Amino acid sequence: MRINPGKCIGCGQCRVFCTMGCIAFVRKEKGGQVQCRVDEDECVDCEVCLRAKACPTDALEQPPAVWPRSVRGTFSNPLVTHKETKVPGRGTEEIKTNDVTNRYKHGYVGISAELGRPVLGARLRDAERVFMALAPLAVEFEKQNPLTSLLADPATGKLKEDVLDEKVLSCIVETVAPIERAAEILDALDKVAGEIESVFSVDIISRVADDLSVPALEMLKRGKRPYAPNGKINIGLGRLFIKGAGC
Ligand code: SF4
Ligand code: SF4
Repeated sequence: MRINPGKCIGCGQCRVFCTMGCIAFVRKEKGGQVQCRVDEDECVDCEVCLRAKACPTDALEQPPAVWPRSVRGTFSNPLVTHKETKVPGRGTEEIKTNDVTNRYKHGYVGISAELGRPVLGARLRDAERVFMALAPLAVEFEKQNPLTSLLADPATGKLKEDVLDEKVLSCIVETVAPIERAAEILDALDKVAGEIESVFSVDIISRVADDLSVPALEMLKRGKRPYAPNGKINIGLGRLFIKGAGC
């Protein structure tokens, strides 16, 4: 996002809506008029300021999305659809609909690392650190996740070099693995957590067993890992549409 200095009157209305706190007051020249300016390196192109319609002079302008800067908007603006996945936002459609897609079968868990949040955001270099910590474990990275499409080498977890300094509001590294492997994946995430220069949380997704126990919770208790069982719970309101998905 940019502010057209020829139009900005320095009212500061846009600053209230900035998800990254990256719009600052500046003086046009010494002793001159106060205006606002976007720190474009910190801006994640979420367009919240633009959609808020707060600017009285139409001074906010979104330049055309050019690679690699274009990844900022696709991860940060929920109205932009990823070219690769056809899904808007930072995650996958599956993560919200796994009760009907049978994506997580009995005996498997989804383990996701969520990087960044409003104000802090996350550089894709941090996502690469997580990928590189998990790649040696030969985990399956979710193909429908938009971050996965930025991998240059899935075997090492290296991302495309030109996106590493790009900043997004948040992004999710998603994996699926047999539940027996969950402990080593969590250990690897523990190790890399100290290198992440933003906030970082881990989601664990699993099916409820036929006896109504939750195998992932049992696994966390055995490992004496703290957890907050306040996740999103899909209660199966949808109908299973994959053959054999009821098993
Ligand atoms: S596009 Fe988003 S991050 Fe950039 S200035 Fe506007 S609100 Fe802030
Ligand atoms: S709302 Fe518009 S005029 Fe006011 S400071 Fe922001 S860009 Fe400038």
